[in-house]
Amino acid sequence: MEVKYLDLQAQFKENLEVRRVIDEILSSGQFVMGPAVEEFERNFAQLCGVRHAIGVSNGTDAIFLALKVLGIGEGDEVITVPNTFLSTVGAIVQTGAFPRLVDVADDYNIDPDKIEVAINERTRAIVPVHLTGNPARMDKIRAIAEKHNLFVVADAAQAVDASIRGRKVGSLGNLSAFSLHPLKNLNTCGDGGVITTDSDEYYEQLLLYRNHGLKNRNEARFFAYNCRLDSIKAAVANLQIKRIQDVTEKRDRNAALYDEGLADLKNWIKIPPRRSGVRQSFHTYVVQVDNREELIAFLAEKGVETKIHYPIPIHRMEAAKRYGYQEGDFPVAEAMAGKIISLPVHYYLKEEQIRFVVESMNEFYKR
Ligand SMILES: *Cc1c(COP(=O)(O)O)cnc(C)c1O
Repeated sequence: MEVKYLDLQAQFKENLEVRRVIDEILSSGQFVMGPAVEEFERNFAQLCGVRHAIGVSNGTDAIFLALKVLGIGEGDEVITVPNTFLSTVGAIVQTGAFPRLVDVADDYNIDPDKIEVAINERTRAIVPVHLTGNPARMDKIRAIAEKHNLFVVADAAQAVDASIRGRKVGSLGNLSAFSLHPLKNLNTCGDGGVITTDSDEYYEQLLLYRNHGLKNRNEARFFAYNCRLDSIKAAVANLQIKRIQDVTEKRDRNAALYDEGLADLKNWIKIPPRRSGVRQSFHTYVVQVDNREELIAFLAEKGVETKIHYPIPIHRMEAAKRYGYQEGDFPVAEAMAGKIISLPVHYYLKEEQIRFVVESMNEFYKR
């Protein structure tokens, strides 16, 4: 049985509604920003229960602009984790700030108990990543930030529609950054991103930051960037936003099927952590396994596609060399990197496909 890691073709193939809204944009001649972007921003703010959403070019730029609007740059330090997609750290580096990495806890997210020792007089912000779609420990993180007068900018690229005690992650922290990349839960037909905030001041500033600093057609308040969102991407994302609750529901059900099916294998497999009051978006369903490379080959042989998010911690990459981190600096993240595997959990999976993956894994460990 073939089980693909993702099925983007299924989402867009013969989707007449997508074709209709793209055709509307083509006829309108309004390709950058405009009414479709404004509508998307209203919808996204409502989804997150937050005052403002600002559509931008991609998730990486969303993190970058959120840091810029806080005035973060050269000479500052920003705290984040080594086990994220590399653009979290890339966005911090782009501002000129030093990426101060902190190890993670067994939920794959920043370990709140390790944050305070990483804070010094140059620290300006904490960037927790809601990895896999499981919200980071925002209560503890915000308490530490308040105590030390730091900002919290959440990388919520994997966590759209996730929540803690009914509050969506986009409303937790000074600003949150999301991605609309085709691989994300709420996606579009290309790159796109969103920033959410409850602050009117950051919102007004971000409108300038994403559009050359222009305060009107001809005058810039300061030199800035072109990080705008295209109308076609916003129009397609507007369709996606209507079904995001459905998508989260389905991914949650898929995750529950895996949890149940893999329970027998707990000597070899560690299933994702759960915490009460938390709604995860299951952007990825990550398990830690023994004999990973053999398992991946065994599953591939059966037609089951898997991924690793992410095999190389960022401090071990050539790009991070100048920051002076060593192997062994982040033992939890490093140990996880050698054991994690992401199983298919997408919206278009059928129950029998998940059962097949579970059976195959049982066969692998029990033979
Ligand atoms: C996808 C992702 C990003 C970057 O988003 P892009 O839209 O691809 O720039 C940043 N952080 C995390 C955790 C991601 O998964």
